[in-house]
Amino acid sequence: MRNYLSPLAEARDIPPKGFGSFAVDPIPMGTVVATFGGTILNRIDFETYPLEQRSRSIQIDVNQFVLGPELREPGDSINHSCSPNCQLRNATQLIAMRDIAVGEELTYDYATSDTSDYDEFDCACGSDNCRGRVSGNDWTLPDLQNRYQNMFSPYVQRKIQAAQLVRALTKRDAEHLINNFDDNPHQALVHALRIVTGMPNASWKTLVAQVSPDLEHRELLYGADQSSLDKLAQQLNERRTL
Ligand SMILES: [Zn+2]
Repeated sequence: MRNYLSPLAEARDIPPKGFGSFAVDPIPMGTVVATFGGTILNRIDFETYPLEQRSRSIQIDVNQFVLGPELREPGDSINHSCSPNCQLRNATQLIAMRDIAVGEELTYDYATSDTSDYDEFDCACGSDNCRGRVSGNDWTLPDLQNRYQNMFSPYVQRKIQAAQLVRALTKRDAEHLINNFDDNPHQALVHALRIVTGMPNASWKTLVAQVSPDLEHRELLYGADQSSLDKLAQQLNERRTL
């Protein structure tokens, strides 16, 4: 078994074609109900697996996914709800957010773990505040950020904090970049990138990964290719505020 499901719950079929986990004994608030395991993959490798298997997976970092096992296990059958009774305690562990009665389905809000589009769907949770469509951008909704404070996966929490710190370069920042670029392009770019990504402590490697989705381009930057560095500095300079 790659996944853990509490003995206080069991996985069941939900006809016509679905699965869920239900409390078979009362589950007190704070109980660990499930721990997700599997194969750790980056986005590109993750995308090569079948949709069904990917739907039994969890995102644990910007570019890191825990792929569910080939065959369904009890512990990877926890559905989404817009009014959940469970929450993440860390990237892969789920706890009861309140006391859960026998027969209740265990659910958590996928917005607290997933920030990409690999598992988007129309929601049928039936709760009063159902948002209809569950997407990889739901973590950006202010309402959810308010409701799920401290319940997001740690990497999502960092993304939320970063989004609050993001700003354009000021004229002064741009001057700093230009004045220092020739002497130390790496250091000057790190300074500017930390501002535009809202990640004040991020390394060069992380910053490049944030701003360049293209792998080949990333490798050029990591290899300190002069024309790629020049172009990045130019792009940053063009994005400044007046
Ligand atoms: Zn819903």
